[in-house]
Amino acid sequence: MGHMIQVDSLTRRFGEVTAVDRVDLTVDEGEVLGLLGPSGCGKTTMLRLIAGFERPDGGSLRLDGHEVAGEVWLPPAQRRVGLVFQDYALFPHLTVAENVGFGLPRRERRARVADLLGRMGLSEMGDRHPHQLSGGQQQRVAVARALAPRPRVVLLDEPWNTLDSQLRAELRGEIIATLRAEGVTVVLVTHEIEEAFSLTDRIVLMRGGRIEQVGSAEELYYRPCSRWAASFVGDANFLPAERACTLLHDCGVHCPLSPTGCGHVLVRPELVEPVPDLAGSARIVEREFRGHDVWYRIRLADGSELCAQRPSTEAVAVDSSVRLRVHQAPAGLALIED
Ligand code: ATP
Repeated sequence: MGHMIQVDSLTRRFGEVTAVDRVDLTVDEGEVLGLLGPSGCGKTTMLRLIAGFERPDGGSLRLDGHEVAGEVWLPPAQRRVGLVFQDYALFPHLTVAENVGFGLPRRERRARVADLLGRMGLSEMGDRHPHQLSGGQQQRVAVARALAPRPRVVLLDEPWNTLDSQLRAELRGEIIATLRAEGVTVVLVTHEIEEAFSLTDRIVLMRGGRIEQVGSAEELYYRPCSRWAASFVGDANFLPAERACTLLHDCGVHCPLSPTGCGHVLVRPELVEPVPDLAGSARIVEREFRGHDVWYRIRLADGSELCAQRPSTEAVAVDSSVRLRVHQAPAGLALIED
């Protein structure tokens, strides 16, 4: 399988702001890629560059092996890229079927529309107008419309953000499954970590217009490339060399640092288990019940603190004396350089 999207040193500036800064990236055919990062890091601009709504100030973009921006310029309509944006509204005066069939050749329109409406669970809705549908149904129509002209790439920019959380969780899984079944390459912009983790094959973490890290959810979570990346994707304890070595040695866990080494060891809070022990030298100083788990702040004998997150079935009371058990991360604990 070749690269469906190839981005080389792509740059887009708005006055003083470099929204996308010399980004290199490839996306395989059929891959579902997540673009993750804080507000303003350039996710939407990346998507708009791929769609052709923005012209780059530098670098190039290839789709399916052909250059579409750089030396040459292919307008959005000729890129075979489908879009599902939050504000990419349906045509209000057209029916659902007309929305999905818009722009399709007449001879294949009826069959293609019926197929897509069926797959999106909208077979009964073809004659309705968008205002007669729920938010989730409108979203499905938008996906069906994006898929109708058989795009090579579908771009999604936080399309389900306005929906309530229960519906959103259901709908996003269904939509990504439909896109996977169609075999298109997908780029999903999100600032929600859980969404990126659960829906995508690979994640691009962006920061200030640049790529901070590319990897699978597990890689980003357990092997982050920086302190910033580690903290962006989850709660984190950063243990300095000496403390890490002592604590991990006592737990029989390999420490990736020597006692005099530089940097910190990343220990995710769910790897830290406070074990009630009257002779323990650590103490629970704060506890938050979060439903399926409980979060703790634990003070060690030397005054430093760690956080822990454990199933709520194992709840330990505030002020309890504890000793700490640290569990091994799937591929070993990560060393974070300073
Ligand atoms: P969010 O998650 O908030 O949508 P984002 O990661 O998608 O953010 P972008 O919308 O790509 O970020 O914006 C990146 C930077 O470029 C921001 O500083 C933004 O203010 C700036 N920017 C984006 N579009 C324009 C524009 N048309 N004119 C001027 N500045 C822009």
